[in-house]
Amino acid sequence: MSDTLIELTAMPLIDNLLTLYKVDRQVRSLRSRVESAQIYLNVQNRLMTEIGVEQAESNLKRKQHKANISNIETEIGAVDVRIEHLREELNQAINDKQYSALLAEMNTIKVHRKAFEDEELIEMSAVEDLDANLADISQRLEEREKVTKVASKELKVREAEIAEQLAELETEREAAAAVIPESVLDEFESLADDYDGESMAAVEIIDLKRREYSCTSCSLRLPLDSITSMLGNKDAHVKCVSCDRILFLEAESREAIAPADT
Ligand SMILES: [Zn+2]
Repeated sequence: MSDTLIELTAMPLIDNLLTLYKVDRQVRSLRSRVESAQIYLNVQNRLMTEIGVEQAESNLKRKQHKANISNIETEIGAVDVRIEHLREELNQAINDKQYSALLAEMNTIKVHRKAFEDEELIEMSAVEDLDANLADISQRLEEREKVTKVASKELKVREAEIAEQLAELETEREAAAAVIPESVLDEFESLADDYDGESMAAVEIIDLKRREYSCTSCSLRLPLDSITSMLGNKDAHVKCVSCDRILFLEAESREAIAPADT
């Protein structure tokens, strides 16, 4: 057993918990510096994916409009063949009645041709709009890529910055956790996760004469029983009846409440 461990084992449970609480908070605060950079990078990656989806959708729409244009052009080609054929027939018309019938068909077909042309213009304008949209998407993608690269680099820098200190603190944390009974440690860990490291709360003296005390975390009144238990046994861990955090008495509070005890 190392000297430090002997020292820790000799300390009351509540003091060991406080040591763990303090180092646990340091570990969490150090990790949070990297976490914010990680969250930022995740956001950038998500935005990149979203722009990619938008790009794929626009490309697909463009392809569909291009296919429509190609179909319309085939239709117009067929109409032109028919018009050419009607022209020849008109030239060879043998009477007015035949001529009029051919002319009427010609006019109807020309109306169809015009409708195809109008449709083609609409399709072409849609392609133009999509081209502008795709150019905008490419630009946004390029900009987002730059931001993502910077974010990725920033994350690596931050990870490197804290690596050494984090390793030291993790070792300290392990040592502090090693002297705490497993069941208490489980409770501590679960509280620390639930409350983002704020697993313990100091007792606040509201009115010493009236024996009124509260929890500094949730501000709610603590029953006198809780205080008595804490004063009576430093190896007991007492939790706030409202927020469930493990309570501790600062040295000054302990001194104020029970001067004879210290
Ligand atoms: Zn509380």
